[in-house]
Amino acid sequence: MDPAAARRILEQERARGLDLIGRAASLEDLEAAKVAVLGRKAPFSEVQRSLGSFGNADRRDLGTATNEVREALGAAIEDRRAELERHAEAGLLSADGVDVTLPGRGPRPGSLHPLTIVERQMVEVFTRMGYRVAEGPEIEDEWHNFEALNIPPDHPARTMKDSLYIDIPGMLLRTETSAVQIRTMESQPPPVYVVAPGRVYRREAVDASHLFVFHQLECLAVDEGLSLADLKGTLEAFAHEMFGPDVRARITPDYFPFVEPGAQMAVSCFVCGGRGCRVCGNGWLEQGGAGMVHPKVLENCGYDSERYTGFAFGLGIERVAMVRHGVNDMRLFVEGDVRFLEQFEGVA
Ligand SMILES: [Zn+2]
Repeated sequence: MDPAAARRILEQERARGLDLIGRAASLEDLEAAKVAVLGRKAPFSEVQRSLGSFGNADRRDLGTATNEVREALGAAIEDRRAELERHAEAGLLSADGVDVTLPGRGPRPGSLHPLTIVERQMVEVFTRMGYRVAEGPEIEDEWHNFEALNIPPDHPARTMKDSLYIDIPGMLLRTETSAVQIRTMESQPPPVYVVAPGRVYRREAVDASHLFVFHQLECLAVDEGLSLADLKGTLEAFAHEMFGPDVRARITPDYFPFVEPGAQMAVSCFVCGGRGCRVCGNGWLEQGGAGMVHPKVLENCGYDSERYTGFAFGLGIERVAMVRHGVNDMRLFVEGDVRFLEQFEGVA
């Protein structure tokens, strides 16, 4: 190789190398380009090896030119490598479809069940009036569920028709939370001011207004000098808090074995104001049974029925929730349909 050929090759290799490097589409391409232009078998390396055979002047000039070409190609390779690495990173990101500048998507925490929301609201109304929350077992014995509540063995509520007995004789799933009232009175002397919210079980066919598992909140007050007026006042205070200040409460005579006198309680319809509408029919919405605690019930718990009187009433939590939120089918509460449940997100 003569110096002229060496000069020509250096110029060609600079141009060819820059072109190859510029067209490298991947880091592998770039590595191949580097071998092709600067590798041991590349024309550039042949020129380098020939330098020793040239005269002093040519050797110095061509040595400088060789260094320049090597540096130019080396710099081009490093630039291209940085560029390809940036692209590779961006490519990975777009392949995943992740925009790192967006806020993260956390797990959806869900929300409270509408019955839980309504139960808590009801409990809060009573605790503000000075009541305490009492709880009891969902599997009860016949004493607490029936006998202590003055429900004799021949009462219809005792038969298999209404109750769900379990395999242990004398034990059943509680039919009302009234059993908690008995347990409370057995465990403490008067005065008593408690509410017992919880699940109860009845042998019922399921339809728009009946479930075989539902929820009650029972209220019990026992003290000296309590009368029906206290019952009505308490019910009215509750109705104002839950349904609005214009709602009126009404009690009409009814029979329940554990109260004397017994009453059915209703609140004036908050939709029509008591004039009568599609929701209420006659202007009143029935809320459940109530009355003055039967003296026998007080005596069953060791209370002096001459000195103490009490009132009690039971509210259906599903019924209150239906009235409050305009739900027309009780089954919606247990079907677990997210489209129904998510409407209560943020309510509380
Ligand atoms: Zn109405």
